[in-house]
Amino acid sequence: TPSKEGKMFIKALFDYDPNEDKAIPCKEAGLSFKKGDILQIMSQDDATWWQAKHEGDANPRAGLIPSKHFQERRLALRRPEILVQPLKVSSRKSCPVGVGLNELKRKLLISDTQHYGVTVPHTTRPRRSQESDGVEYIFISKHLFETDVQNNKFIEYGEYKNNYYGTSIDSVRSVLAKNKVCLLDVQPHTVKHLRTLEFKPFVIFIKPPSIERLRETRKNAKIISSRDDQGAAKPFTEDDFQEMIKSAQIMESQYGHLFDKTIVNDDLAVAFNELKTTFDKLETDTHWVPVSWLH
Ligand code: 5GP
Repeated sequence: TPSKEGKMFIKALFDYDPNEDKAIPCKEAGLSFKKGDILQIMSQDDATWWQAKHEGDANPRAGLIPSKHFQERRLALRRPEILVQPLKVSSRKSCPVGVGLNELKRKLLISDTQHYGVTVPHTTRPRRSQESDGVEYIFISKHLFETDVQNNKFIEYGEYKNNYYGTSIDSVRSVLAKNKVCLLDVQPHTVKHLRTLEFKPFVIFIKPPSIERLRETRKNAKIISSRDDQGAAKPFTEDDFQEMIKSAQIMESQYGHLFDKTIVNDDLAVAFNELKTTFDKLETDTHWVPVSWLH
């Protein structure tokens, strides 16, 4: 961000150690930093290596860091799979990393329903007798759903038993219009589309604990959001635990730079407290945000 005095600051989205960078012309001249650090850019004269120092560092000597362009290019070369993430996701029931996430979201919501809100999803399945349109779901036709998908009206959608389910951008807007904080549970590839001036999201990654802790603490827990044909909840299996750990690792390595905070969901009460404290602090503390959010 170029401030009034013409100074420019950036917030680091990754850890950097010049000693491990094969490309840097001189390791001793490099500046190491950690994800979240605020750096002041002293020179951008070189397209590949910028000069920077840590915010508020009185030492006038700047160090070399990779330029944004250079870092993005070498990341793109190393990890092309980021670019081919499909937007369409299968129904959320197949996303076991969300385990505990629903519970955390629910607890936060009921802790202050004046302050927090959740979106009403769209579905193409018929309304059940006890349901009302606009409460559990917004019920629409398959044709309209498909048109809305074409017109990018959904943040995410999935198919389950021959019906579509999805979260529309407008449903997020209607929560915000009530002056509420919108709690959203999304696949990480959607975060990129939500990181805009309009939504200014704060992204929290709810991470599973170690596999040993999962076995110890979740052995008798059930996958509540995934129902078999009789509607009964199934207990977790060893495969579910391994899948949770594996997908959490993939999410972290591919999307870690988009997470503002990571909370390990080992003990639910502890994780909930951390979540609540994070949200409370968010409303009082100053935050560094992308320059494009300031206009
Ligand atoms: P039901 O028809 O029993 O209300 O829900 C069936 C499935 O649809 C559930 O497993 C639920 O998780 C999934 N579902 C509900 N809302 C959404 C949504 O907004 N997006 C996606 N992808 N799946 C959803």
